[in-house]
Amino acid sequence: MSAPFYVQGAWFVGALLFIFGLKGMSSPASARKGIVIAGYGMLLAIAATFVIPGLQNLGLMALALVLGGGGAWVSAKKVKMTDMPQMVAIYNGMGGGAAAAIAAVEFAKGEMHGLVAATLATLGALIGAVSFTGSCVAWAKLQGVLKKAHRLPAQNAVNVLLAVIAVGLGAAVIVLAPQQPELVIAFFVVALVLGLIVTLPIGGADMPVVISLFNAFTGLAVGFEGYVLGNPALIIAGIVVGAAGTLLTQLMAKAMNRPISNILFTPLAASGPGEAISGTMKEVGPIDAAAMMRYASKVIIVPGYGMAVAHAQHKVWEMTSILEEAGVEVKFAIHPVAGRMPGHMNVLLAEAGVPYDKIFDLEEINGEFGQADVALIIGANDVVNPTARTDKTSPIYGMPILNADMAQNVIVIKRGKGTGYSGVENALFYTDNCRMLYGDAQPMAGEIIQQLKAMG
Ligand code: NDP
Repeated sequence: MSAPFYVQGAWFVGALLFIFGLKGMSSPASARKGIVIAGYGMLLAIAATFVIPGLQNLGLMALALVLGGGGAWVSAKKVKMTDMPQMVAIYNGMGGGAAAAIAAVEFAKGEMHGLVAATLATLGALIGAVSFTGSCVAWAKLQGVLKKAHRLPAQNAVNVLLAVIAVGLGAAVIVLAPQQPELVIAFFVVALVLGLIVTLPIGGADMPVVISLFNAFTGLAVGFEGYVLGNPALIIAGIVVGAAGTLLTQLMAKAMNRPISNILFTPLAASGPGEAISGTMKEVGPIDAAAMMRYASKVIIVPGYGMAVAHAQHKVWEMTSILEEAGVEVKFAIHPVAGRMPGHMNVLLAEAGVPYDKIFDLEEINGEFGQADVALIIGANDVVNPTARTDKTSPIYGMPILNADMAQNVIVIKRGKGTGYSGVENALFYTDNCRMLYGDAQPMAGEIIQQLKAMG
């Protein structure tokens, strides 16, 4: 059924709002507004769909909206900032699944008009189905439900074989679909299994990159199905998500110095445990840490995943304000993959009220560590590990890192001697200019604040 011009027009306006929304999301200052604008676009696109004349199953559509929207509302309210990657994974999987389901319905109706529409529907179904099961595995890994990486013997050959079978079945579906429902079912089963098999061996550390890749896939699948349904909102939204997901995947892979092919086909630990580190970790107390920063001219703060878990951002900002009042220049250095997803640290610091002009990316700030009296590392580890620069046998070798080790003094707040996400020991912690302040980031920041206040 083709939609009347006013519905097409509303979809088009909705799609434009998605683009404006995405533009807003390119800066933390306008991201919140961007999300709201894109949300209005979605609302408009959905409302317009309901006024298509002669539309059937309105009750079912409303029920799906209430269930899906209600579930999303409740889970989005409850989710912790640190669990956001899992949430993105599962929502992304739903998008891929929905695109595949649209194709399944079109196949079942036997209403595929022409070779182009049939090909795009099938491609969308394949990509959407892979993205659905792959994202479910990604969710399970990040949530800790699936703890191990499951690798088959000759894993890469199995991946290729399944992909070839899926494409072959897809080609057959394009030619024979309406007459051969068994073929359609076999195609979907293989595509769903392919998503599982490709994702199961990938380790948790690489999962956020994989989610971003599946996000790009889902966008593509939605765009293809939008063409099949003649819906410009779906086409544009799909293309925008596909392009944004692709760029983000590249950015993350570059920041971790892991080519996408390496992430998909080589487990992280495969490159070896890394060289042994000599020396000892030297402890410092909150009084000395506070004094080192109070009498410094320049302090660079490096936040990491531990700051997010500890919800320490508000205390960190309070500490920063006290230092600034005392005449200390304070800057924040953000690694592109600090935390568990891109932008994680920026969002937390913005939430605590840290002005954007104090927050610097790796390329902007790395040259300044040499002039800093103190680099204060709060719950970060891999992103400041100099091993990445020097040890060719280390799994994180080549990952660009923040040059915190080049500061005059380094203070690290963390709870114990544990490693970071990659499981690699941090050579920085053993250097002469580094002091460890053991404890949970929030109470530790609180103690430093007390000491700074006492110093006046
Ligand atoms: P890491 O995971 O390397 O280190 C975090 C450190 O925080 C740990 O060593 C831990 O030590 C400490 N910590 C944990 N809880 C607390 C707490 N409550 N208080 C104080 N410290 C705490 O984090 P980074 O941010 O440095 O690095 C991010 C890692 O995630 C990188 O390996 C990156 O590749 C990976 N990654 C990130 C992605 C992204 O997009 N951001 C995507 C994919 C992967 P201890 O247990 O001793 O307290």
